[in-house]
Amino acid sequence: MRRDDPTTASEPPSDRVYDGVGVIARGWLHSNTVVLPGPAPAIIDTGYVTGVEELIDRVEALGGFPIASLATVLLTHVHSDHAGGCAELQRRAPARTWAHPDCAALVRDWDPRRLWLEGMGQRMPRFRIDDALTPGERVTAGGIEWELIDAPGHAVGGLCFYARARKLLISGDALWRDGFGILNIPLEGPETIALTRRTLDVLSTLDVELVIPGHGRPFRDFQAAIARARRRLADYVEAPEQTARRNLRASLAFWLLANPGVPRAALERLLRDAPFPAGPVAPLIAALTSSGVLVERDDRVYPGARLRRLD
Ligand SMILES: [Zn+2]
Ligand SMILES: [Zn+2]
Repeated sequence: MRRDDPTTASEPPSDRVYDGVGVIARGWLHSNTVVLPGPAPAIIDTGYVTGVEELIDRVEALGGFPIASLATVLLTHVHSDHAGGCAELQRRAPARTWAHPDCAALVRDWDPRRLWLEGMGQRMPRFRIDDALTPGERVTAGGIEWELIDAPGHAVGGLCFYARARKLLISGDALWRDGFGILNIPLEGPETIALTRRTLDVLSTLDVELVIPGHGRPFRDFQAAIARARRRLADYVEAPEQTARRNLRASLAFWLLANPGVPRAALERLLRDAPFPAGPVAPLIAALTSSGVLVERDDRVYPGARLRRLD
């Protein structure tokens, strides 16, 4: 099988248990899912809507429990790559869904623009939030006590889960090994920068030995990741055009992974309507092709090899 064949878009499963916590890592279209077995099994984040069946198989295999016994779905935030599976899971299991109160408000109002669906080419079936996870409080899931850390910036209602006794942080898109999820300043406003800075300040005070991020493999060099995230944040202020291009590439990457094989004309339309300024479309597509982000074949575009790596 050719490595750059755009039709073989998935990596082999890499589900593993880290420090007693199961992690299903599925690249950038689907957020990581944390699996917490026990008398009341729970998961954190569900991935994108197109991957629910696969998710269920992998949760059952890694967690050793049938999905019908899933008690709780906890969410780091309600972007479609983290909460896209909620509706189907709510049909398949009696699980209650918990998220930050600001996420509960977003879900209740279901404004596709505020949920980053409209304008970003994303899909997420409507679901319900059953209980609020209030920052500063604690919840027990998988037999582990988690402190709920307010982590706005990338996402309204962003939440991190911190197990102090294990020095383990589940960071969602608030902190990755190399940066964090895009800051959608055109939609969320300029205060996004200050919120992100405060979130990084709060996280930096925690004693952390293992981070399970929203995307990419778990990692241990926590303070180095904080430093990289701070530099990425500084780019928003010091290099706004470069940052806008990077965000455009990230949004495009996500859209391509969700819609592999779309006609080139649809890609051009998306780029013209993107919330981040795209500039001339033809040279942008040429640059994305040569850097391995996308592959063109028969007037259709597919995610390139670079997008299919896990990290
Ligand atoms: Zn994400
Ligand atoms: Zn996100």
